[in-house]
Parts: sequence; structure tokens; C-alpha cells
Amino acid sequence: MFILFGLKTVEHPLPGRPATCQRCGRVCHHGLEERATRLTLFLIPVFTTSRSYRIMCSNCGTVNTLTRRQKNSLSV
Ligand SMILES: [Zn+2]
Repeated sequence: MFILFGLKTVEHPLPGRPATCQRCGRVCHHGLEERATRLTLFLIPVFTTSRSYRIMCSNCGTVNTLTRRQKNSLSV
């Protein structure tokens, strides 16, 4: 008998918002993305082990990571 397990990272785009970029200083749309790492058992996702959020400037492409609290304060 064997057990097949692994980790799988899934990315979900979330609705972004216009904001001022910290790098280029322009007011433009910032895309928000959720990355969830899930434990898989026989290639079936069982539960989420970690979750992170990233925000990306659509003008210069600068990516910053956000905490869950920062992400929740953005999506009012
Ligand atoms: Zn920028």
C-alpha cells in the first residue's frame, strides 16, 4: 500500500482597485491575487496549508505581498 500526497499552489485573481504605486508614483489599477497552497492526497486537494496575497501595479509591474489584514482593508 502506498500513499500519494503533495502540495499544489493555486492562484485566484481578485478584483483589484485603483491606487497610487509606491514605485512609479502613478495612480493606476492594481491587480490583486490570492495564492493558496493546498495539501493533496491522491491528487485531490484536502485542505489549504497557507494563503498569501499579492498586489501588482499595472503600469510598472511592481509586486508587493500583503497580509490577510491588509487585503481585507482593501476590499471594502
Ligand atoms: Zn507602478
